[in-house]
Amino acid sequence: MRVVCIGAGYVGSVTGTALAANHHHTTIIDVNQEKIERLSRGECPIYEPGMETLLPTLIGKSLFATTSYDAVADADVIFIAVGTPSNPDGSADLRYIKQTAEQIGKHLSGERFTVIAMKSTVPVGTCQWVTALLADASGLTPESDFTVVSNPEFLREGFALEDVFFPDRIVIGSVHPQGLSTMRRLYQGVLDRSGYEDLCQHFSFSYDLAAPPAVYFETDTKSAELIKYASNAFLAVKISYINEIARLCEALGGNVLDVAAGMGLDSRIGPKFLQVSSGGSGSCFPKDTAELLSASEKVDSELMVVKAAVASNERMHQYVVEKLERRLNGLKGKNIGILGLTFKPDTDDARRTQASYIIGKLLEEGAQVRVHDPQGMGMFRELNPDMPITYCTDPVQTGQDADAVVLLTHWSMYQEMDWQQMAGMMRQPYLLDTRNFLDASRMRTCGFDYQGLGVAAKA
Ligand code: NAD
Repeated sequence: MRVVCIGAGYVGSVTGTALAANHHHTTIIDVNQEKIERLSRGECPIYEPGMETLLPTLIGKSLFATTSYDAVADADVIFIAVGTPSNPDGSADLRYIKQTAEQIGKHLSGERFTVIAMKSTVPVGTCQWVTALLADASGLTPESDFTVVSNPEFLREGFALEDVFFPDRIVIGSVHPQGLSTMRRLYQGVLDRSGYEDLCQHFSFSYDLAAPPAVYFETDTKSAELIKYASNAFLAVKISYINEIARLCEALGGNVLDVAAGMGLDSRIGPKFLQVSSGGSGSCFPKDTAELLSASEKVDSELMVVKAAVASNERMHQYVVEKLERRLNGLKGKNIGILGLTFKPDTDDARRTQASYIIGKLLEEGAQVRVHDPQGMGMFRELNPDMPITYCTDPVQTGQDADAVVLLTHWSMYQEMDWQQMAGMMRQPYLLDTRNFLDASRMRTCGFDYQGLGVAAKA
């Protein structure tokens, strides 16, 4: 099939690449010239494991990248994968969706029936609104010349290829028979896993070709739009909940690792998303919970659980700062090293991370901060140009004359680094591991006063 994917970001570049690998003639369109030039050279514009080997095998063959919308005219399916950031009031800013819809509308030829599939995370009713925008801009007849379907994306950065080739579910929101049949045909390769033996050599994860295939779930458009927000808000609740239990463990003396493991043995709960952190963050959870709360307030249907989870999550960021403050007897004049600026490992995405909140507070309290991240320093610096911090290319250097080092992101490279050298160069070798990622006894042998989060009983 002929496919266009609009947006060459975390979702669009991976989605487009995966569609091309599934033998669809795919064109990625973005307004960002630099991203398109990189893609055209076979380089991925974002850091995502596996893309560096898969993309060059496809570019110029089944995958193309351009800033021009011309490919829209003869596309069977057009994915919209542009950003939907937050407005100041928390609601979704749909300006990029609007611009994209207007551009698509101007380029739709009407010569063939086209499905426009919404991959961006958008508020309930957006597909309907985009239908009207497309009709206005194109002069074509909705549901006869084109249809808009919802196809929310659930990929996780760092595991994006695994998630697009081996998704748990594919959700399609539409009641249009041709829209539904076109999307099913498009995803047939993912459902059958055709050609996956060859493809899998590009993956950095272990995969099981015999594992059950994705559940293909069709529903109406509004329900599909809501599935995405309801899922992300639920995960945010789960994260906030286990972090509250971690705080309780510190107060009462339990060990959250054992508590989470014991809880996760219940199949109704499951072990996933019960990992302690300095609070959930990133480019999706904060903005998606904010939009859901904003939408619910507008229709007077309060989401009390989600509201509490958002507040609890911010409390967790603050809790880490307070823990440091208590341990160091104040933060003024203290040197703090931060390991990890991205919201999770294996991504360069430093948007709305816990690091920016925590570092901001440390600076406010008069501390000096040295930071390291293997992939996220470029974006973090771009997003926080005025933050007076020192960027270190070697993680060990964050410990220079430090009173504390705080591990925020559990990059695997932090297991391997020379901790003994770091402990030796610190003013006070206090190490706060907010992910309970490092081996406590090894760190103590290296000379650290080591603390995790919520592990009072075993610490
Ligand atoms: P992103 O910011 O990484 O990428 C968006 C891209 O769209 C940018 O490259 C931008 O230049 C481009 N763009 C903006 N306006 C355009 C236009 N008019 N025409 C062409 N290109 C245009 O965003 P992302 O992280 O890929 O997220 C995209 C959407 O997918 C969002 O709604 C997000 O909530 C959702 N989502 C993201 C993830 C994730 O892990 N990042 C996961 C699931 C869903």
